[in-house]
Amino acid sequence: MFIMKIFKLNKNLMKSKFLIIKFSRILGLILLLSVVLVFLSCNSKTTENKPKYIFLFIGDGMGFGNVSIGEAFLSVQDGKTGFKRLNLSSFPVHGECTTDCADNLITDSGAAGSAIACGEKANFGTISFYPDKTNPPLSIAKIAKQNGFKVGIITTVGINHATPAVFYANNNNRRDYYNIGLQLCESGFDFFGGGGFLKPNDKSNDKRSLYEITQENAYVITNSIDNWKDLVKDKKGLYFTNPVLLDEADMPYAIDRKELGGFSLAEIVEKAIDFLFNQKGFFIMVEGGKIDWAAHENDPATLALEVIDFDLAVKKALEFYHKYPEQTLIIVTADHDTGGISIGNYEKEYQTNLSLLLNYKHSLKYFSGVLDNYKEKNKDYSIQEVLKLADENFYSPLPYFSKNDMIELKSAFDYYFFTRTNLSEEELRIKYDEYNPVAVAISKVIIRNIGLNFSTWNHLANKVPVYTIGKGAEYFGGSMDNTEFKPKILNLMQW
Ligand SMILES: [Zn+2]
Repeated sequence: MFIMKIFKLNKNLMKSKFLIIKFSRILGLILLLSVVLVFLSCNSKTTENKPKYIFLFIGDGMGFGNVSIGEAFLSVQDGKTGFKRLNLSSFPVHGECTTDCADNLITDSGAAGSAIACGEKANFGTISFYPDKTNPPLSIAKIAKQNGFKVGIITTVGINHATPAVFYANNNNRRDYYNIGLQLCESGFDFFGGGGFLKPNDKSNDKRSLYEITQENAYVITNSIDNWKDLVKDKKGLYFTNPVLLDEADMPYAIDRKELGGFSLAEIVEKAIDFLFNQKGFFIMVEGGKIDWAAHENDPATLALEVIDFDLAVKKALEFYHKYPEQTLIIVTADHDTGGISIGNYEKEYQTNLSLLLNYKHSLKYFSGVLDNYKEKNKDYSIQEVLKLADENFYSPLPYFSKNDMIELKSAFDYYFFTRTNLSEEELRIKYDEYNPVAVAISKVIIRNIGLNFSTWNHLANKVPVYTIGKGAEYFGGSMDNTEFKPKILNLMQW
């Protein structure tokens, strides 16, 4: 009995001893597991929690009013009144951004782009130019390249125009297109696309072509969208120029593409994504450069369709985001506002009729070309003939022209065809700016009849929108300044 008891006691002791050993083993395992987990989570912070595919879309001149007219146009295309969301305004994070530059409240694209690219305010008309700084800031694209990312720069206007230039060049004058173009080859960026070189032989037309120099610097230049990848073996990069380029090395407006041809911005972005995709990452800047131009020209349907076309390029990035949601960040913003469109005007009060936007056939620029051609090919000119050309090539059916409208048109007609005017230079600038006076006089009647208004031929100091989706998007909500894009991206990347 006694022996039995001792045995039992012993057995219990053994049991508890065994339990303690088992418990400490489990504890050890838990400890080990948590160490592994902490290590993994630290590690994932450096690799998994930051985006590696970054898109920066800049709608040049794309203020809130210009986004609104794009959405209103989408809606009237569906036969409805109202606003149909663009892809960009469907993004979950919305913000707003101030755009003033170092020496002026109203900025230009050079200074605004510099602030976005380099994170520092620059002077009006300059390209990432900071002479007073001991360590001039690098553009976000250059930093991305230094950190092993592939870099693509795409625009619908000249590739050495202000917005693309701020990412690869430094110059105190945005119009020094030749020297800006020379810096393109030195950037080592992997992809350039869209517009051609402005002034490829310099202003005096006496220098070696920028196209030639770029090719010598190991870039392949092509306007064919097939077998891009094969073309660049052993080369530094690819420069895809749209097969149809107009007189300022720009791509045709979306509204004129059917007639003039060429690729859309969306098609180029799609190919660029395919070309630049790699495991390390990429940074792609896409500019919708002619949103600004259409707004300068106070040309509402052209403007709306440029915004929509830009948005279709954003959609390509969005499709990519849906494939790699944890690794992609898409930022869409504007460098400044242009044109000052208002939906609603003095004449029409509450009777704005945006379905009339569908009556536009071509851009004001295209119609101006038709008028130039008419002027060149004829000796006698008539207002009736001009109105017929407008009906065929610009907007149809034309609205009613009041007595006053006809007086205005006659004044523009005399000035354009016979250089007869009693207006001062300043009055002419305010009335027509640098645009075709006859086209502008007709355009103003149409715009007023739709119930729209523009407040300037130039830029505005209004805030612009910021739309973001993807990894780190939350940092771009709320109110910000254009100098904050670069530090926010850098902070996210921890480069
Ligand atoms: Zn502009």
